[in-house]
Amino acid sequence: MPSVLRVALPVPLPTLFDYLPPVAGDAAAGSRVLVPFGRGKAVGVVVEADVPAHVGSTRLKRVSRLLDPSPLLDAELMQSLAWAADYWLGAPGEAYANALPLLLREDKPLPETREPVWQLTVAGRSALDAASRRGSSRALLQALVEGPLSAADLDIRLADWRAAARRLGEAGLIEKGAAAAASLSTSVVAAPLLHPEQAAAVDAVASAFGRFQPFLLDGITGSGKTEVYLALIQQALAQGKQTLLLVPEIGLAPQTVRRLRERLGVPIEVLHSNLAEGERARAWLRMRSGEAKVVLGTRSAVFTPMPQAGLIIVDEEHDSAYKQQEGFRYHARDLALVRGRALQVPVLLGSATPSLESLANVEAGRYHALHLRSRPSAAHPPQVQIVDMRAQRLEHGLSPALLQAIGETVARGEQVLVFRNRRGYAPVLLCHACGWHAECPRCERPLTLHAAWRKLVCHHCDNQSPVPAACPACGGQDLKPQGQGTERLEEALAALFPQVPVLRIDRETTRRRDAFEQLLDNLQEDAPAILVGTQMLAKGHDLPNLTLVAIVGVDEGLLSVDFRASERLAQLVVQVAGRAGRARKPGRVVLQTHHPDHLLLRHLLAQGYAAAAKALLAERRQAGLPPCGHQVLLRCDAHQRAAVDAFLSEACAALPDSDAVQIAGPMPAPMPLRAGRQRGQLLIESASRRDLHAVVRPWALHLTQLPSARKVRWTLDVDPIDL
Ligand code: ADP
Ligand code: ZN
Ligand code: ZN
Repeated sequence: MPSVLRVALPVPLPTLFDYLPPVAGDAAAGSRVLVPFGRGKAVGVVVEADVPAHVGSTRLKRVSRLLDPSPLLDAELMQSLAWAADYWLGAPGEAYANALPLLLREDKPLPETREPVWQLTVAGRSALDAASRRGSSRALLQALVEGPLSAADLDIRLADWRAAARRLGEAGLIEKGAAAAASLSTSVVAAPLLHPEQAAAVDAVASAFGRFQPFLLDGITGSGKTEVYLALIQQALAQGKQTLLLVPEIGLAPQTVRRLRERLGVPIEVLHSNLAEGERARAWLRMRSGEAKVVLGTRSAVFTPMPQAGLIIVDEEHDSAYKQQEGFRYHARDLALVRGRALQVPVLLGSATPSLESLANVEAGRYHALHLRSRPSAAHPPQVQIVDMRAQRLEHGLSPALLQAIGETVARGEQVLVFRNRRGYAPVLLCHACGWHAECPRCERPLTLHAAWRKLVCHHCDNQSPVPAACPACGGQDLKPQGQGTERLEEALAALFPQVPVLRIDRETTRRRDAFEQLLDNLQEDAPAILVGTQMLAKGHDLPNLTLVAIVGVDEGLLSVDFRASERLAQLVVQVAGRAGRARKPGRVVLQTHHPDHLLLRHLLAQGYAAAAKALLAERRQAGLPPCGHQVLLRCDAHQRAAVDAFLSEACAALPDSDAVQIAGPMPAPMPLRAGRQRGQLLIESASRRDLHAVVRPWALHLTQLPSARKVRWTLDVDPIDL
């Protein structure tokens, strides 16, 4: 057998591919190679080097070219990726592709880690002095006279500099160079004196530097978790070590970046999907080379190389944004823990509302719990009140008690947040004459009325249609919006409180970049205002004059069939409530519901999140549900229901007989039709993760070979978070 390279290629197939080594160069595990694939070429990552070819590997092709003389992915990253591909049952090639920024998946030289800049040459300086150039050329020379500028800087200063740069470059008046390493910010903001709980948390984690130990930092919003992160990153920096800080959303990034930069006085790398590809690749490479010490990023930043790893932090660890929901379905929090073990560093998970998964790990003694129980800034935790909506006369879905509370708050010159997790004007458009309602033909779900756009929109598939003038079923004119979305609440509140500014914050009003921050910047701190919005409002800016949080329309969450709905609702209520009374003024939270006696609400409001979570965890344990049991979900969709049924029953029949796993289904998905495709699923459960994987791993390979698999789209989801 010849010795070959085993290569991961970015294709959704459950295999690695064998190639003969390149003619020139020594390809090692972690190096990228260009290989012939199909009718074209592909860039892959060498997973194993110098291994005997599989029996039967005939007609082996040769690697066309070695792209990295030394491995781009180090041994730890390769090991963690192999673990991830195996655990989440992903195609190995897709796992490796996820780990690399897009630019590094191409057959191109690695980009300079320093941002390229334009600078004046000696000739350029004389040309400027002699005033021999005019117009845009002169403007560019002038802009560069104070020092080199990057393309991004120039874009801000000059409208059309690129043509001028080309002309001046050809004339030798300016040249491209590499910037000096990003300079340290000069003014470093002093850290506050940590209070005892913060200091204890910092000491606990710092004493675990150099070994793997997970911690759960459990502290309400505003209790000072970020200060704990900052102190620890500083300690890691002092030892020359790198830190990875994961956040669930880009929206959280700008504020946090600013805070980190001001405090730490070192460049902070940022990694998220809104960045230009060049930026992402450079940030990744600067961490790989050790030039950069701190990276802040969203989910996929968990794949950043950390050759000098010191610490991994996962903020808001309960957030479902950490789970990738398509392609390679990994969970960034869980992968952060795997990397922490491989790198031998502590992993700090932080949250005001920890996931039941992490709480179970604390109970089992695997994670060490750290608590921040007090708020350094505000003396009073918000006071929470349930308003029973039953048999109340509602105005636009708002109860008299709630309207009174809003009125009192704005009369005192303070601010109100009305939380409603539904965009649009109304979730349903109903014919009052015959009962017809507008429905998405591709999903068979009600369409949401968006009044400002004059459109009906499907929130499941984005299908849009004009609002009918008359009922398509009976021709009646009496079409009535049912229920309230944020758009309708904004309208209603503006009419009810005409003297107070009403601001809506949801995905529509914040579509533009930075719109969220700009909207909030318009708020006058000492004036009354009413904010209406979705869960985007649960996070972000500190609003010191916000003293009332009104939570409306959460009853759907209480009644949902998804067993995780209660956990999510509890987290959301606590996160939103945490926005009230963050400064010296006491805060108040009003939650209106038709189910005032619901056990979850009672627990939550009487005893807080920890008690509610404990009760939920006990329920899960009793029912054998995650995290106390383990699940793998096979999802499948096709245009024809018959194709879905055929595949799922073949898949089900292919499962081995085993007492260790239970099978639920085949059954229709909770949304049996979506975007015109029929959907079904098969759930495999076990009390033991090991048993579950032992059954599912060979089965997953078998599935690809089922004849019925060709007529459907299917995916396996390990630890699914939505069923
Ligand atoms: P969290 O991340 O838990 O929401 P932060 O770390 O952002 O909390 O702290 C909330 C506010 O309290 C911030 O304005 C922060 O500067 C301030 N703060 C935190 N810890 C202290 C401290 N020990 N002394 C003074 N102010 C603090
Ligand atoms: Zn009708
Ligand atoms: Zn739809």
